[in-house]
Amino acid sequence: MADKPVALVTGASRGIGRAIALALSRTYAVVVNYRSSKKQAQAVAREIEQQGGSALVIQADVADGPQRQHLVDTVLQQLGRIDVLVNNAGISVPKRADLFDVDEEAWEAVLRVNLYAPFFMCQLAGKVMTELIARGTIQRGVIVNISSISAYAASTDRAAYCVAKAGLSMVTKLFAARLARERVFVYEVRPGIIRTDMTRSVQERYDHLFQEGLCPIARWGMPEDVARVVALLCTNELPYSTGEVINVDGGFHIRRL
Ligand code: NAP
Repeated sequence: MADKPVALVTGASRGIGRAIALALSRTYAVVVNYRSSKKQAQAVAREIEQQGGSALVIQADVADGPQRQHLVDTVLQQLGRIDVLVNNAGISVPKRADLFDVDEEAWEAVLRVNLYAPFFMCQLAGKVMTELIARGTIQRGVIVNISSISAYAASTDRAAYCVAKAGLSMVTKLFAARLARERVFVYEVRPGIIRTDMTRSVQERYDHLFQEGLCPIARWGMPEDVARVVALLCTNELPYSTGEVINVDGGFHIRRL
């Protein structure tokens, strides 16, 4: 059993997930999940350990049911508890395409990672946390789903991504409503445009849009901006709030005249 509470972060080898893992490692033993970037995941774990924290690296494709189960089982075998789950792993559309040209294979690939995976991870972790709370092993649980401004902003060339993120908003509400009585709190964090590998190919376009006033806070979001909010939600400072959406988007969501 870990002597510290345990946070499981999916897709923690790079980008936003890496920053979340580092931020949470000040309080939690962190599970660094990844799908294919083994070296980067190991580097995140080393960084955590150099800062005095502890990390466990686990490879698992969260789009796959048996691998999700293996991920959760391994955490329980090795660390004995899960206090926090951050559903961060996500992919963009394989290729931007007009709505008329979207094919089913690409649609399914995006929905499997960005929507099926967090739903079933909430289900798995929700059951585990409920049991651990009933046994007195942990006092409360927190689940944070990383969605996107694409949950409400329509990009007609990234349909599957938008639909998955909109669905993830409902997943958050459903599990927040279901798990409140178990003392598990569920939140949605909605990042705006964040500088990571995912946005590398559109960097120049967004540099320009920021200059033109796309966001009231006229700069790129950084992975650490998102990580700080996730760390805040994992504290016990919001005991009468669940199902909340926190925008981390430089004010992008504000309608302006
Ligand atoms: P990123 O730099 O591309 O990193 C994605 C991470 O997810 C990697 O660690 C990757 O692991 C992991 N991953 C992908 N598919 C996986 C799978 N099937 N199983 C396990 N891990 C998987 O992306 P990011 O920008 O940090 O995005 C993180 C989350 O924030 C995503 O949900 C994304 O939709 C959301 N978001 C991003 C932005 C943005 O502007 N960047 C804005 C809003 C929301 P491997 O390296 O091992 O493949």
